[in-house]
Amino acid sequence: MNSQANTCKMPVSCGLCEKNAILKRPKTGDALCKDCFYHAFETEIHQTIIDAELFKRGETVAIGASGGKDSTVLAHVMKVLNERYDYGLNLFLLSVDEGISGYRDDSLETVKRNQQQYDLPLKIVSYEELYGWTMDKIVEKIGLKNNCTFCGVFRRQALDRGAVLVNADKIVTGHNADDIAETVLMNILRGDVARLRRCTAITTGNEGFLPRCKPFKYTYEKEIVMYAYFKKLDYFSTECIYSPNAYRGHARTFLKDLEKIRPSTIIDIIHSGESLSIKKDVKMPTQGTCNQCGYISSHTICKACVLLEGLNKGLPKLAIGKSHKARKKLGLGLLPVRRKEEKFQRPTDNVVKQTADF
Ligand SMILES: [Zn+2]
Ligand SMILES: [Zn+2]
Repeated sequence: MNSQANTCKMPVSCGLCEKNAILKRPKTGDALCKDCFYHAFETEIHQTIIDAELFKRGETVAIGASGGKDSTVLAHVMKVLNERYDYGLNLFLLSVDEGISGYRDDSLETVKRNQQQYDLPLKIVSYEELYGWTMDKIVEKIGLKNNCTFCGVFRRQALDRGAVLVNADKIVTGHNADDIAETVLMNILRGDVARLRRCTAITTGNEGFLPRCKPFKYTYEKEIVMYAYFKKLDYFSTECIYSPNAYRGHARTFLKDLEKIRPSTIIDIIHSGESLSIKKDVKMPTQGTCNQCGYISSHTICKACVLLEGLNKGLPKLAIGKSHKARKKLGLGLLPVRRKEEKFQRPTDNVVKQTADF
């Protein structure tokens, strides 16, 4: 049969069933048919969820949904696995509207279609409502340089705030294996040992705060694209119109080049990151809560509040700089960090009130 296949150019058969293979799995090189690929892809994610004990029955899980390929596939797979394996989870789509016209408004339309397609409830929180600033207005003030700093810091907190509004127990994000390998590389290149230690964790912020999980931790980006393509999932594929993170871009290109030569590079870097042990004398940030907004922070006042204060005082560039200097100059005190509570505390009433009425 095999020798015949070589000489007669018979179609390659699926490594797992009788059908013809139509793809080569990027992660393993296996020739598979569509159905066996779906099954392998979904089962691996299920296994990751089970091995890491990511969820408990009855939990409300907010799926960070941007309309992009990763979060669209995540929403689809979470829904499929929740039903197939009876996880008993209450799933939500949670989107952040950064206020970037021509980019986010279009991708939000995709999320709204996903809401219909997957029949999941959707909550959208916007920068405008949370902070009084859209990214368009922020870019008007500070230009294209550094705007990603604002966006990244605000988005992270906006997801937390949205998750609190829908009473979520956890947030899941579409970060995939490539993203995590990139982050490991970047932290090594920058010598950021504290982040290097945390960046391969499948769940973060679980020490008293709303946990964030990455069910795609071991899932290759190429396979996510393949899955979305064969399943004909509806996603939005335009890059953000504002400046990309250049440094991450270099790490990404480097990693993609290595992947071409050796596909296991991505998983190998993650495994290296997981196995690193950090010297005891490396200073780790103390995680507490922000005195101003009540959300997670390693300082008295969180970075989001510092950035916001900078914007509101007309000193946005100052706020980007060294955190302690910025805090001082903006008149935000330097009190000791409020220690984290034993269990995740819903942020202070006034914050919830501030954000609850939209
Ligand atoms: Zn098959
Ligand atoms: Zn704050």
